[in-house]
Amino acid sequence: MSSTRQIIIVGPPGSGKGTQADLISRELGIPHISTGNIFREAIHKDSELGATARSFVEKGELVPDHIVTALVLERIKEDDCRKGFILDGYPRNLDQALDLDRNLEISDGPLDLVLNMVVERGELVRRLTGRRVCRKCGAVYHIVFKPALVAGRCDLCGGELYQRSDDQSETVNKRLDVFEKQTGPVIGHYRRRGLVRDIDGSCSRDEVFQAIRKVLNNLK
Ligand code: AMP
Repeated sequence: MSSTRQIIIVGPPGSGKGTQADLISRELGIPHISTGNIFREAIHKDSELGATARSFVEKGELVPDHIVTALVLERIKEDDCRKGFILDGYPRNLDQALDLDRNLEISDGPLDLVLNMVVERGELVRRLTGRRVCRKCGAVYHIVFKPALVAGRCDLCGGELYQRSDDQSETVNKRLDVFEKQTGPVIGHYRRRGLVRDIDGSCSRDEVFQAIRKVLNNLK
């Protein structure tokens, strides 16, 4: 197995790609870089980046390419990415993919793998609209699949549970449409290069991770 691992995980919102990226990050000892998390944190802190990103994120629209690309290209130059990285949420459209390709060609070498999380749309809508997050510690619940012991309160810290504004039904459907239109071509682009492995994301967290592990073990 080569010592550097440059991996992308792609999947529609709600496909569990963030959870799986965390597990992969721990397994391989490489950082999990989630553009969605970077934006949410910036919005929470009300930084300059947060102020720019807020309206796009809240409406379920894509933040302009030049902002996201600059941010990711800076991030993957950091020291902790010397052994590789797992990118979650980037690239989100073909232009971002081409920018990343060009950059990796001149600096870090090619991508090793693109994991494509596949889940059918009805299931994604159920997962996303039922998701609730603790305002205080960020723990994630689901009104049906993982309810809190006391409704509306976090089991871990007692914080208030809320629904992310982009998890409301109308925005969820918009995010899924954006994914199909914009990110579909990204998957095609990498598939033509033989980099894509499809992962059935409809099973349990552990079953999905076992499938991913098999793919990781088969990397040269
Ligand atoms: P996510 O958590 O990956 O679903 O991302 C949440 C939101 O952050 C998206 O709906 C976009 O508004 C924004 N975002 C995240 N990644 C990107 C990206 N690569 N390009 C543009 N916008 C992004």
